Amino acid sequence: VIDVQHLKKNFGQHEVLKDIDFSVNKGEVVCIIGSSGSGKSTLLRCINLLEKPTAGEIIYNGENVLDSKHDIFKYRSKLGMVFQQFNLFNNLDVLHNCTVGPVKILKKSQQEAEKIAMGYLEQVGMGNFINAKPDQLSGGQKQRVAIARALTMEPDALLFDEPTSALDPEMVGEVLKVMKDLANSGLTMIVVTHEMEFAKEVSDRVIFMDQGVILEQGAPDHIFNHPNEARTKQFLERYL
Ligand code: ATP
Ligand code: MG
Repeated sequence: VIDVQHLKKNFGQHEVLKDIDFSVNKGEVVCIIGSSGSGKSTLLRCINLLEKPTAGEIIYNGENVLDSKHDIFKYRSKLGMVFQQFNLFNNLDVLHNCTVGPVKILKKSQQEAEKIAMGYLEQVGMGNFINAKPDQLSGGQKQRVAIARALTMEPDALLFDEPTSALDPEMVGEVLKVMKDLANSGLTMIVVTHEMEFAKEVSDRVIFMDQGVILEQGAPDHIFNHPNEARTKQFLERYL
């Protein structure tokens, strides 16, 4: 689906991403792990062009999306993003949070958008909360609405940046369950996470980032049970 080549990102003098090659195939679930500051969020933000890469190529459907002629807006609408802090529209109820995208961007009728939204809200177990405002919901509920909202845009892939890090521990499970079901349904997912059990169980491939490079990647069994790199071992020991 997406193929990133020689991606670099500098903030001033600081090289945050150094020559990253990364790709994700259709239906694949890739988890990205690594220490704070290793560049995980920056990589996700470069992939969906929330940040402009300093150098490199992002190939999507055979085209380099960094070409000036490419329709960046359309590309971004094909990649759903789920953030740590939910980023729901607080003035809108749950249903309308999930219909603005389809109405404004996909040009659906309000009625059609509501039908689509209801389907996804039910899928994430939030069908009974359509009239609630975000501030009436728990963190776990908000995050499930955010996931439903991302799905209403019919994305080719969903990108998650630590979707459970801001949640109280008792709410982490309900969000991970929704994500697990999505993974099993064949959705293409890139997930930055510190939930090692989730990464182990759900991912097809795990990427370990360290100081702006992909130090090591492979099947979960390889990364978690037989990592090659000392830095990977060291990082994982903190989670045992
Ligand atoms: P965490 O696990 O804490 O979320 P991360 O792996 O997501 O960490 P990034 O947020 O990608 O790391 O940050 C990588 C480096 O880039 C850090 O040193 C950070 O200070 C720096 N950085 C990120 N965004 C910016 C910015 N907008 N301006 C300047 N420096 C930035
Ligand atoms: Mg981050």
